[in-house]
Amino acid sequence: MPYAIGIDVGGTNIKYGIVDAGGEILHEGLRATARVLDELKAIITELGEVAALKGLSVEGIGIGVPALMDGEVVTGCGANLPEIEGLALGSMLQRYARLPVVIDNDASLMGLAELRFGAAKGLTDVVFLTVGTGVGGALVVNGGLYSGYRGRGGELGHIRVAFPGRPCGCGASGCLEAHASVKALSRDYADAGGNAGSDGRLIFSRYLAGEDAAVVAMHHHFAYLGSGIASLINIFSPQKVIIGGGITEAGGDYIGPIRQEALRLAMKETAAQTLIEPALLGNKAGFLGAAALVFGEVF
Ligand SMILES: [Zn+2]
Repeated sequence: MPYAIGIDVGGTNIKYGIVDAGGEILHEGLRATARVLDELKAIITELGEVAALKGLSVEGIGIGVPALMDGEVVTGCGANLPEIEGLALGSMLQRYARLPVVIDNDASLMGLAELRFGAAKGLTDVVFLTVGTGVGGALVVNGGLYSGYRGRGGELGHIRVAFPGRPCGCGASGCLEAHASVKALSRDYADAGGNAGSDGRLIFSRYLAGEDAAVVAMHHHFAYLGSGIASLINIFSPQKVIIGGGITEAGGDYIGPIRQEALRLAMKETAAQTLIEPALLGNKAGFLGAAALVFGEVF
């Protein structure tokens, strides 16, 4: 059985593990994100030792970063992770690890994990959305990950759902991320009279309990997500739209109201084959997808 190291570099934490080709996790860990390069080297050393102890032969290292990959170069993460912006990170780490290193956008890798091991297994056309502090996404088109020319597209969180709408971190306004992220939800909740600084799971649990401010805020959230997903269905007519992120794991029917709104707005013809479902792999999807990248093509 082949094994790979998967590493998911986030703004707050780095999650990592040793994974086999069937998606089984043999060892996993988590470190706070501080000095990214030092952390990555320490993780590679740690996992190399674990693999040696367990007698596992590791084929390579996959890494997910919250950035776009223009060939070898990490770009577009200057605001969150300035340390790795503009670096040819793969070849740097490859020299250190003496193993092949492959790197891709973290949201794309979460999609790849669901495709290889999770909710999208066996499918060829899928839209993934991750609802967190921001809204990330990935596309599988005709059986392959699609992220535009030179990897610079696939920014599903920045389709516009309102005009002029709220200012967005990308410099535009009215983006799905500006209206339907958990950050936007917290703001809507505070504006409706709820406690400032409440997280998504808490707001959702209060919505389920019928609290007024939470009901107002969640209705906004569902409406904007449903609207964005309807546009994505009209363009891609996917077999599934898969929604992940911490808030989707809070229990209760989070997907139901989004599904209802998206299917109300999408064209009947484009939505005819589309299921809208929660992701299955939770916060392990990032490093599982990074490991899957090492194992190569899914089909
Ligand atoms: Zn934007």
